[in-house]
Amino acid sequence: MTHIYNFSAGPAVLPKEVLAQAAAEMLDWHGSGMSVMEMSHRGPEFISIYKAAERDLRELLAVPDNYKILFMQGGGLSQNALIPLNLLGHKPDGATIDFIHTGSWSAKSIKEAGKYAKVNTAASSETALPPQAEWRLTPGAAYLHMCTNETIGGVEYQPDFNDPRLKDVTLVADMSSHILSRQIDVSKYGVIFAGAQKNIGPAGVTIVIIRDDLLGKALPICPSAFDFKLVADNDSMYNTPPTYGIYIAGLVFQWLKQQGGVAEMERRAEAKAKLLYDALDASDFYDTRVAPANRSRMNVPFYLKDESRNEAFLAGAKARGLLQLKGHKSVGGMRASIYNAMPIEGVQALVTYLNEFAANAVK
Ligand SMILES: *Cc1c(COP(=O)(O)O)cnc(C)c1O
Repeated sequence: MTHIYNFSAGPAVLPKEVLAQAAAEMLDWHGSGMSVMEMSHRGPEFISIYKAAERDLRELLAVPDNYKILFMQGGGLSQNALIPLNLLGHKPDGATIDFIHTGSWSAKSIKEAGKYAKVNTAASSETALPPQAEWRLTPGAAYLHMCTNETIGGVEYQPDFNDPRLKDVTLVADMSSHILSRQIDVSKYGVIFAGAQKNIGPAGVTIVIIRDDLLGKALPICPSAFDFKLVADNDSMYNTPPTYGIYIAGLVFQWLKQQGGVAEMERRAEAKAKLLYDALDASDFYDTRVAPANRSRMNVPFYLKDESRNEAFLAGAKARGLLQLKGHKSVGGMRASIYNAMPIEGVQALVTYLNEFAANAVK
């Protein structure tokens, strides 16, 4: 049987061990006689699942005590509205939000935030992080929003925190597609958010990590169920949380700890990405468009120079069990998403195929 490797950008591959454990526990969680799906979110069984997930995520990312972790619904996109709705209450009319635009996801964030405040695009490029010294930041901006891994275009970065201008800025980061794949200093951020379906678990859970002094600043029109302070004060149970998704996310957090945590994921991500980019760089048959310093280690967009071969490339990949390599419709080409749950063997199989396809095509 062909081994299947799933390169989907999201919903994406999950660790096999996690899926097997969830299957084994599907009908009867830990002798409770219930599936996790059937449990009250306020019962002791689910509360224990929730607390373990929260604790493990806090440990994995070394989240400081003055930060709350919220398990919300609505996906990454809803945060583009919920963050202004939650952070602008203390700002008199005329608040400006600064953005770093590096691709489709930050572009969406800018558009949505424009419904609630003035927006300033402080820097813009879809193939590299614009040099930080050139960012045109607004003095007194409500916050600075960035997407530190652009899932579609493949630009990834961490800001330079030595920049004195970042000292007094509340930084908001969309880490949907690379959270838990590299070590970060949470204390440098005001808010970190991530939809779960890329690197954490099934779609339906959105993680928000927020410094506690930012709570309680919601605009009056902010929906109660999405008011970060209400959600935090109620341990993410102001309304019914996405219980099954939180359970699977919790199993993924346990798996990550067993594998060696975020430092080990970072080491693996670098190794997997190097393998793939080296193969692409060594070939005249393929192209990449992102500046090497900002190449994503999670989402690797690439192009066949001869795009008339795209369909044949995808068909051949599928026949080998290399699935969901088609690039996002807005940019075309190919994209290999190589999240935490993608083993290096999957990337090796892809590299073998890349080389063979190129060799056969030039014959
Ligand atoms: C997938 C993604 C989103 C959107 O997530 P939804 O759950 O579909 O709302 C937002 N930001 C980034 C960086 C993403 O990769």
